[in-house]
Amino acid sequence: MDSEKKRKTIKTIKIDVDKCNGCRSCEVICSAFHALPKYSSNNPARARIRVICDPLADIYVPVYAGEYTPAECAGRDKYIIDGKEYEECAFCRASCPSREEFKEPDSGLPLKCDMCEGEDEPLCVKWCITDALIYEEKEEEIEEMPDQNDLEIGLKALADKYGLEQVIDTVTRISYNSVA
Ligand code: SF4
Ligand code: SF4
Ligand code: SF4
Repeated sequence: MDSEKKRKTIKTIKIDVDKCNGCRSCEVICSAFHALPKYSSNNPARARIRVICDPLADIYVPVYAGEYTPAECAGRDKYIIDGKEYEECAFCRASCPSREEFKEPDSGLPLKCDMCEGEDEPLCVKWCITDALIYEEKEEEIEEMPDQNDLEIGLKALADKYGLEQVIDTVTRISYNSVA
């Protein structure tokens, strides 16, 4: 695949961990915004942000959902920061087979933060009353590979989970039923 240079708006959410109090409003609004229809329900398990909460250790760290990965990695990181020890993979953003985070609870499809596409500002930022989340934009010239779209990523995840043949059989059956 050829890459090309493009000017692009880079959207960044800065996370000031010291200000996070673990209220999880960001998870609530994210899941509500992405519900179908929009705002019809909320379930933090469907959020594209997860807050690592361990009140006894005074740990509250928001982590955003990133790319889907079909396989867990063999080497993992474990951080100790200011004497606080974090779980293995705690800061990883991947939707990965090793854990339940960043997956649709019903279908197992990967979830990824889309910066609340269509909104002027990410909703988790708007709902964070402690200002632990700070939104910034800048213009940059970047080398860009063609996008793998969400549908392709979702189908790949289903093929990894159930096998390509079963996915093809199911799609064929659904399309047959919808025209019959
Ligand atoms: S809304 Fe803000 S303070 Fe509350 S959990 Fe999320 S990041 Fe932390
Ligand atoms: S969650 Fe991240 S760090 Fe952990 S195994 Fe998966 S990809 Fe690797
Ligand atoms: S930016 Fe939007 S999609 Fe991403 S975690 Fe925040 S609310 Fe969810």
